[in-house]
Formats: sequence, C-alpha cells, structure tokens
Amino acid sequence: MPTRWFFETLHRHVRQGLAVGKVVAQRRTPFQKLQILETMAYGRALVLDGVVQTTERDEHIYHEMMTHVPLCAHPKPRCVLVIGGGDGGIVREALRHPTVERVVMVEIDPEVIRFCRRHLPAICQGAFEDKRLQVVAGDGARYVRSTGERFDVAIVDSTDPIGPARVLFQTAFYRDVARVLRRRGVAVRQTGSTFLQSRELDEAASRLRRVFRVVAPYLAAIPTYVGGFFGFLFASDRIQPARATLARLESRYRCARLACRYYTPAIHRACFVLPASLKA
Ligand code: SAM
Repeated sequence: MPTRWFFETLHRHVRQGLAVGKVVAQRRTPFQKLQILETMAYGRALVLDGVVQTTERDEHIYHEMMTHVPLCAHPKPRCVLVIGGGDGGIVREALRHPTVERVVMVEIDPEVIRFCRRHLPAICQGAFEDKRLQVVAGDGARYVRSTGERFDVAIVDSTDPIGPARVLFQTAFYRDVARVLRRRGVAVRQTGSTFLQSRELDEAASRLRRVFRVVAPYLAAIPTYVGGFFGFLFASDRIQPARATLARLESRYRCARLACRYYTPAIHRACFVLPASLKA
C-alpha cells in the first residue's frame, strides 16, 4: 500500500511532510478544521487548519518548557491561567506542582478538548479529571477583559496569529493579561520557529514590552516544529528570570517533586542564553 503523506501548510516556502498510517478522526468545527493523524515518525498528531499543533513523541519538550519555566521562576504559584491549550498538555504539567490550587483553562473550541481526551489521551493523561481544573469554553481575550479572578501565572498556548488566535497577539490582550496577574505574576507565550517566524518573535516581544517591565525570550529545540530553535517569551513586572540561581531552581524542582523528561533547573538557566542573532 502506497504511503499516505500529510503536508503542513504553515510556512510559505517550507513544507513539512509526515507519513501517515491513518486518519484517526477529523471534523470541521465552527472555529477550525480538526484532525488527529497517526503519523509514522511522531505518533499521533493534533492538526488544526493544516498546522501541526502537537505530537505524542515530543510534546513533553514544549509543554514542560511552557509550564515549568514560569512556575519554577515564581516563588509559590497557586493560581494558573491557561489560554488555549485544548490538548491538555499544559494543564497536565501545571497540576504536577503541589502548590497549585487552581487552574483555569479558557479554550475557544470545546471540540478540541473532546477530541484530544478521546483520541490523544497520552497527552492529557487524565488532567481533565483533576478537581483543581476549571474549563471555560470561550475566547481568551474576552475572558481576561472581563474576569475578576487574579492569577500568579498566565500561559498563552494558542494557535498561530491567524483565525481565532489573531486577537491573542494584540497589545490590548497583553494589557488585560497584565491586569489579571498578581503583583509577582508571570506570563509566557510561544512565538514559533525563531528562524521561519522571526517576525512573530520580534512583534510579540515589542508589544509585550509596552506592558511588562521584564520581557525575556527563551528557546528549545522541538523536532515537530520545523525551523530550528522554537521561541518562547517570558514577561513579568517583578521577576527577572536570569536572576534565579541554580541552587534556588534546584530546591524548587525538588520541593515540587518534579521528574521531567526535558526540563531541568540547568536547562531553565541555559534556555535564556540567546545566540547573537536573536538578541531581541
Ligand atoms: N502547542 C500548539 C502550538 O504551539 O501551536 C498549540 C496547541 S493548542 C491545541 C492551541 C489552542 O488554542 C487550540 O485548541 C485553539 O482552539 C485555541 N485557541 C485559538 N484561539 C483562541 C482564543 N481566541 N481563545 C482561546 N483559545 C483559542
């Protein structure tokens, strides 16, 4: 039987092709086209509007770096806000922290959650059953504009700045995120490939700098996301990530009894060291 190929349509001049064993499930929702594919190289993959969101084989790198960098940088994270994140990987990692009492996930497309719980359980690993989690079906920008709740950490795990996520890359959204953060609050967001989507990193960094005193890029290499280093942005008014000593990060890692597959206190320190070309 000839191999079936899926070609990702994210980058204009670069195409990633994945050999597909089967299409596990697919549906067009009011927000986007949703597919779960069984790929030969990366296991099951969540694809939204032709763009690979996450895969079983290396999702831990992305989810650990999006979650433990801000939660271990914060002295005692109790309330966490997740915008997007319908596959459940971020909430899974946040709920591993014993100090965390409450996680609110605001996901615009409840079908993503339903599909991932059913067809991609290796990522959420039962996190949606945790009593500390509240799921809000709705637009993340509207939520931060109107909520009275306050958070220690806000994690923006959205799709790229097209379609329903476009509003999550605007300065007004970042202002509202700052509004719902407590005094020592931290926000993080992904900004895609630092090589193929460099404008996304620059634009997000300059918009965040209009709102937060401290904005620091950090990096990780995630094979599913082609284009070299993958970029993240750390933003806060009080916490300077480079000031966290290795000893303090190691003690927080021990206290939280974390045993991660990628994230370590040393990686935490190293990921903020940028190549000269990326000094954003
Ligand atoms: N890790 C992936 C990445 O880096 O591309 C993101 C994965 S996560 C599944 C992205 C989620 O953001 C999707 O489930 C999508 O429905 C959600 N989303 C997009 N726009 C949103 C909005 N305005 N408010 C809340 N969730 C949104």
